[in-house]
Amino acid sequence: MKEPPMSKTLFEKIAAREIKADIVYEDELVLAFRDINPQAPTHVLIVPKKPIPRIDQAATTDQNLLGHLLLKAAEVAAKVGLQASGYRLVINNGRDGGESVPHLHCHILGGRQMTWPPG
Ligand code: AMP
Repeated sequence: MKEPPMSKTLFEKIAAREIKADIVYEDELVLAFRDINPQAPTHVLIVPKKPIPRIDQAATTDQNLLGHLLLKAAEVAAKVGLQASGYRLVINNGRDGGESVPHLHCHILGGRQMTWPPG
């Protein structure tokens, strides 16, 4: 019997243009768009188009994709004007990590001084 198709994640729907977003970068592997609820003057999410739920479910076969995601995160940070001032990259994993969308994403936050320890 054929398995029913898995439903799309929120970020797959954004990639498919089924949900509107302010997209700042796209290639065949990743998509970057502005966060709907920004936590800093500049807050962009970069996601793999492949719906890996979270970093602890990534496989060794995802190594190139994850490297691409991080390199593109730095490129996107520069594209949105954060290279000179600096920025923070964040990946939330699971409940205590504060993950709310089960599709791997890296936050790019900048435009203000970040504090440590994080909240
Ligand atoms: P996390 O809490 O790490 O899972 O991050 C999920 C992020 O997705 C949050 O910062 C949300 O504000 C953001 N988000 C949720 N829905 C949308 C949307 N439709 N467009 C852009 N960002 C979104």
